[in-house]
Amino acid sequence: MSGAEPRRGCALVTGASRGIGAAIALALARDGWPVAVNYRSSEQEAQATVALIVEEGGSAVAMQADVSRPEQVQPAFERISGSLGPVLVLVNNAGVRADGLALTLEDRQWHEVLDTNLTAAFRLTRLALRAMVRARFGRVINIASVVGPRANPGQANYAAAKAGLIGMTKTIAVEVARRGVTVNAIAPGLIDTEMTADLEGGLIDAVPARRPGTPAEVAACARFLASEDAGYVTGSTLYVDGGLSA
Ligand code: NAP
Repeated sequence: MSGAEPRRGCALVTGASRGIGAAIALALARDGWPVAVNYRSSEQEAQATVALIVEEGGSAVAMQADVSRPEQVQPAFERISGSLGPVLVLVNNAGVRADGLALTLEDRQWHEVLDTNLTAAFRLTRLALRAMVRARFGRVINIASVVGPRANPGQANYAAAKAGLIGMTKTIAVEVARRGVTVNAIAPGLIDTEMTADLEGGLIDAVPARRPGTPAEVAACARFLASEDAGYVTGSTLYVDGGLSA
């Protein structure tokens, strides 16, 4: 956090028990934000993220809630706002894959991916915006993907969710631009996490940088977008993909 007066509020990172979300939680804590580390079922991993932040002198709490379930999200969100202060940085990072070719993709797979990767981000943004507008400061960062703007056979549901996230980012950014609130998306390419552990090594050949990205490289971009310095960046999508979409 930069600027003369420290902000009174916190950052909420969804799906922060591991991977990109955990790296973003750590990066925001290093900038002085108290962080709510959301997770669905990986309690031990979420507590490990919290412990890492506390070890470095930061402040964090674990926040259990399945983001696709509004009846879990609303009370957890209110608890966090009560204990850490208003959520002034929201990172919609929680995401799942449920791949299959469109010909055989089931409704269940469609809804699971859309509910978690897109609808949950909308609901949380709606919940957080009121306090952000009141504070005349807010940062919403949506973790999208190169998939969506770009085709990826077997991921029609994931592509729809991520392209939807980018469209939603632009429109909400314009709605709140006068209020000191920015809304941006980050579109990672192939990042080395559990989500991509089952993908073939051959994918690297398509990446101009010839290597996967790291969660820390995505987190550095989120840290910038959350900062005071990024106040004039809104409605944008930042590609972190080793040149994949160039
Ligand atoms: P990951 O290692 O699989 O971690 C996913 C995180 O999301 C976990 O903390 C998981 O927690 C949480 N999560 C999943 N469903 C949830 C739910 N319903 N409610 C709350 N938390 C939930 O994935 P990652 O690679 O770090 O991906 C993070 C984000 O980046 C995702 O949105 C993904 O689509 C996006 N992304 C990743 C890549 C990549 O190459 N890795 C590329 C582009 C975009 P639990 O274990 O507790 O469920």
